[in-house]
Amino acid sequence: MNLLIMGPPGAGKGTQAEVLVKELNITHISTGDMFRAAIKEGTDMGIKAKEYMDKGALVPDEVVVGMVKDRLAKPDCAGGFLLDGFPRTVEQAEALDTTLREMGIKLNGVINIAVPREKLIARLTGRRVCPVCGASYHVLFNKPEVEGKCNSCGGELYQRSDDNDEAVDTRLDVYEDQTQPLVDYYANQGLLLNINGDQEIKKVLEDILADLKK
Ligand SMILES: [Zn+2]
Repeated sequence: MNLLIMGPPGAGKGTQAEVLVKELNITHISTGDMFRAAIKEGTDMGIKAKEYMDKGALVPDEVVVGMVKDRLAKPDCAGGFLLDGFPRTVEQAEALDTTLREMGIKLNGVINIAVPREKLIARLTGRRVCPVCGASYHVLFNKPEVEGKCNSCGGELYQRSDDNDEAVDTRLDVYEDQTQPLVDYYANQGLLLNINGDQEIKKVLEDILADLKK
């Protein structure tokens, strides 16, 4: 099964991707990991990507698509894959379609994990981090034993600047603006699976599996 997964920050996409690839026995391709691996291995595309990243520039679509193509050609993708973190724009989705067609690969579904905005805000703004050991807590879902103090080292917990209300609002706006056209694009192709991400992790997985069977 060849799948794609998307979801806003705080929707639990990473967690779902992890359990889903185990359940379906397919390969997880996260673009972030793929970039790091390609650069480390020094592939042609990895070298190109690094040139842009070293300059602090965005890696152009053709390079990203090239890296995805290299990755999909590896034997571990033959039994199916879950692409995570790519595409992010309609242009990239079109380029991916072309690549997949050239490679004779068919996409079976696009999983879109949806969570109401106010829930995402609560999840994202509640995060607290320990500056000493890096441990992560949540004011609602993963409280420290003593308020404001790290369980393991006693460090003074703080809220990262990109987790404050305003920053979270902006992150969600950016995601929505960028992704809505992509959601429409895959819906038009009949590939979109809208999944309610506002449930227990296990239930979300069950819903995905049930939808994939249809
Ligand atoms: Zn700590």
